Amino acid sequence: MSIPLLDLKAQYLSIKEEIDQAVLGVLDSCQFILGPNVKAMEEKMADYCGTKHAVAVANGTDALVLAIRACGVEPGDEVITTPFTFFASAEAIANLGATPVFVDIDPVTLNMDIDQLESKITVKTKAIIPVHIFGQMLNMERVMELAAKYDLKVIEDCAQAIGAEYNGKRAGSYGTTGTFSFFPTKNLGGYGDGGMVVTQSEEIAARIRKLRFHGSKIKYYHDEIGYNSRLDEMQAAILRVKFNYLDQWNQLRREKAEKYNELLAPLAAQGKLILPQNDPKATPVYHLYILRTDNRDHLANILKEKGIATGVYYPVPLHLQNAFAYLGYSAGDMPAAELACEQALALPCYPELSMEQQEYIAAAVCEALK
Ligand SMILES: *Cc1c(COP(=O)(O)O)cnc(C)c1O
Repeated sequence: MSIPLLDLKAQYLSIKEEIDQAVLGVLDSCQFILGPNVKAMEEKMADYCGTKHAVAVANGTDALVLAIRACGVEPGDEVITTPFTFFASAEAIANLGATPVFVDIDPVTLNMDIDQLESKITVKTKAIIPVHIFGQMLNMERVMELAAKYDLKVIEDCAQAIGAEYNGKRAGSYGTTGTFSFFPTKNLGGYGDGGMVVTQSEEIAARIRKLRFHGSKIKYYHDEIGYNSRLDEMQAAILRVKFNYLDQWNQLRREKAEKYNELLAPLAAQGKLILPQNDPKATPVYHLYILRTDNRDHLANILKEKGIATGVYYPVPLHLQNAFAYLGYSAGDMPAAELACEQALALPCYPELSMEQQEYIAAAVCEALK
């Protein structure tokens, strides 16, 4: 058997006719930039997230950059985020000349540790970027309370969490802004790059619309230095089709995750591995299903021999990345994030995964760790 970490081909084949038609429709219209598909995607997204506005941009990293800038962050400001995330969450801060400040993670949920958050706030702090890692939201009610107390902006990095909820409210709807990625491997992925910012603020939405179009509101009149960062019509047309399946796909991911939890419970009870732990108020969307074990590399090797692909998310915490050496962090500064980087392993967990494949994977994990 050969099982990939994610099966994009199987997903495409299941909706091929609709996708092909959507793509051909764009070719036929010859309207490639900021046309009706982007507008419809923005409306759909705002409606889905429960926000007033949504602005489509070129990718999830630009979504962060534009959102952070539209929140008023300036060079020299500090922005607090987690070290246990994809590089872009902090790269976007640094690209604006602001300073990423890391706070360690909660070893249970692997999200930013809110108990330690307040101690990182200084007079220079302008914003917080909570990341809903692997598709599980953190307690946004507490984050927003702290933000209100210190008058900070909040940019939710929802790249892995489209459709996830906390206490019945969707990812992206709590913060000043929420940012999304439509990278092909995300829960809602295009066939190329794409991103979105959602917000309740008319002012911030207007600023991001301007920033994505060279700082221009009226063509050829430029109010500020912006970017060329737009979602293109082809991607928007594809995403509109896939959006109709998102809730169903997220539900299937949750079912696969529950099945793993059930099949691997005996190993967890023996202390041989740690299963994903949920905040009871969070409804996750399992962008990734992450196990933790001291024998991570051994487990990955055995699974590979049996034809099962796995992934290490993430091998190096951000405070120890070479690119952030100038921030002056050392090993030992963020013990929970560092341990997670040694222990975490993603198992295949996608809507098209069959029961038979899943049982084969679980049996292989049990054999490797017995
Ligand atoms: C994928 C991802 C991004 C970046 O999105 P791109 O579309 O690849 O630029 C940012 N943050 C997190 C947490 C991600 O997983």
